[in-house]
Amino acid sequence: MALFSKDIKTLDDLFVHTLRDVYYAEKQIEKALPKMIEKAGAAELKQGFETHLQETRQQVERLEKVFEMHGEHPKAVTCPAIDGIIKETEEVAGDVADQDVLDAALNAAAQAVEHYEIGRYGALAAWARELGRDDCAALLHQTLEEERATDVKLTRIAEERINRKAA
Ligand code: FE
Ligand code: FE
Ligand code: FE
Repeated sequence: MALFSKDIKTLDDLFVHTLRDVYYAEKQIEKALPKMIEKAGAAELKQGFETHLQETRQQVERLEKVFEMHGEHPKAVTCPAIDGIIKETEEVAGDVADQDVLDAALNAAAQAVEHYEIGRYGALAAWARELGRDDCAALLHQTLEEERATDVKLTRIAEERINRKAA
């Protein structure tokens, strides 16, 4: 597995490759979130993950739409980054016995996922515009905003947990 595939020659190739990468990532996130919902203790964190699972399912469909708008069949290519983040989450979460600390670990792991997605969707939306695909950019931007909102929500949950502990 090369870091940069020889098949990527143009910005359009890079756009399609990255769509496939994030399509894979969303599908892995869709599989990982139910386990995180199960492990989360705080009601707000659990609810946050549940809401984002619903959003993630819509994001997968939105990506399929972008593929089709761009004349491509939806296809996934392995994203080693998301596999690594999920593996690391499972390793860390598996070792934490204290529920409050486990929640902190899950929250931080979820933020690492959101940050990866924000980076990817930000690039994809910019490339779509550069390629003259404002229609694709609009859909990608919609997902980008959901990922950003989720990140903000997770930051707030983490801060409330710290404040609650300090009280
Ligand atoms: Fe997502
Ligand atoms: Fe990736
Ligand atoms: Fe997300």
